[in-house]
Amino acid sequence: MADFPRSPASGIKVIIVGAGFAGISAAIECDRKGHSVVLLEKSEAIEEITRFGDIISFDPNGARNFERWPGVIEAMQKVARQTSWLDLYHWKGEFVTRQSFAEEKKWGPRINGHRGELYSIIYQHARDRGINIQLGQRVTDYFEDEEKAGVVVNGQYMTADVVIAAEGVRSRGRKIVLGFDDRPKSSGYAVYRAWFPGDVIAKNEMLKHLVVNGDTHSGWLGPDLHFLASSLKGGKEFNWVFTHIDDGNIEESWQFPGKVEECLKYVEGWAPIVREIVKSTPKTGRLIDHKLVFRDPLPTFISPKSRIALIGDAAHPFLPTSIQGASQSIEDGVVLAACLELAGRSNVTLAVNAFEKIRYERVHKAQAMGVKTREKWHKANWDAIKEKPEEIHLTREAWLLNFDAEADCYERYNDVVADLKGVKARL
Ligand SMILES: Cc1cc2nc3c(=O)[nH]c(=O)nc-3n(C[C@H](O)[C@H](O)[C@H](O)COP(=O)(O)OP(=O)(O)OC[C@H]3O[C@@H](n4cnc5c(N)ncnc54)[C@H](O)[C@@H]3O)c2cc1C
Repeated sequence: MADFPRSPASGIKVIIVGAGFAGISAAIECDRKGHSVVLLEKSEAIEEITRFGDIISFDPNGARNFERWPGVIEAMQKVARQTSWLDLYHWKGEFVTRQSFAEEKKWGPRINGHRGELYSIIYQHARDRGINIQLGQRVTDYFEDEEKAGVVVNGQYMTADVVIAAEGVRSRGRKIVLGFDDRPKSSGYAVYRAWFPGDVIAKNEMLKHLVVNGDTHSGWLGPDLHFLASSLKGGKEFNWVFTHIDDGNIEESWQFPGKVEECLKYVEGWAPIVREIVKSTPKTGRLIDHKLVFRDPLPTFISPKSRIALIGDAAHPFLPTSIQGASQSIEDGVVLAACLELAGRSNVTLAVNAFEKIRYERVHKAQAMGVKTREKWHKANWDAIKEKPEEIHLTREAWLLNFDAEADCYERYNDVVADLKGVKARL
């Protein structure tokens, strides 16, 4: 096991359910803070996690945490998109504005890359740390009392001081936190997404400028739909995604193979370049129709006895236009691990309450930003944008992006705990 910097052993035992970005990052953070971790994942093999998905984004508030995991950010930067701008176009094809992200460099790294590749880097780091990751472990129930929390996995009971439920948008952990089984619902939107080699684009006269001069990042915005395309690894790989209104049923599955002909119906009358990008998608390229599942904001992220905490999409699914789903899921693990460190083993329930208090408002403010951007893009007032093109830029605010979740937690923890104790004393 490689010798990574760690806080002294805390004696706190943590079970984490789900090894998506939220769960695996929480496991690494708990290990950094000296807690003892078991990570349970239902997938039998790691390829089951890495083979799904395509482009995923970590903004500076998320990606800066990877800098604390030796070697991880460097490995990610090698496979990430090398652009610091987004070119935005009217849906009929007219160029509108280039939004630069260069100023954000001082806030921390931005990482945009293939979900599977970036995940594999984190997974390898967790393995190198010697974290106890158990695959093929499907958790079927949660329980807690005053002294401990636990899970039922493959018919066996397993207990710890605290359980972190990171099972994504279809979480079972929500039931114990909420006291009832709420069902995920359709957000009313779906995303078509594709990823394939850039040489297909390089051979096409109309499209080749998107790959032959290195990485690019472009967006076409129209009524109820936005279309984003980008190239990575110097143009060797290419991807496009478009979010559109969809009233499909999400009960049984939310990932379906997509069809080029179906996609083209949504972009009827759009700029020829957009239609040409879709038409160029090779049959062997991964084209997915991804239904966006949503949940109403939860009244709480923690269980009645404060020994089980929901993190990541289990607590708060995000819309893609927020570009924050993955980053917020990393922040969750950072804060929870730090709160446990500061509280110590005899105060685990206080730590879990402090985690919720620190995270709750910030997460919901970030979620609201995603809705704002979608509305701005899908219902654009083009007359106003002609006068002021930057009106159409993604909203990029320092409170959200120039933020160090660990430093903030260390700074605020004592005040938050004093507040929590004050509330208890008044009851
Ligand atoms: C298939 C898929 C593809 C995605 N693709 C993209 C993409 O291309 N771009 C993008 O921006 N976002 C994508 N996302 C969303 C993004 O990964 C998340 O928003 C974000 O990373 C937060 O992840 P999470 O760890 O909370 O949840 P998830 O990524 O959903 O991870 C949850 C994990 O928990 C495991 N699990 C679930 N139930 C149990 C159980 N009972 N017992 C044990 N383990 C369990 C799951 O197998 C999974 O590994 C995708 C999500 C999924 C599920």
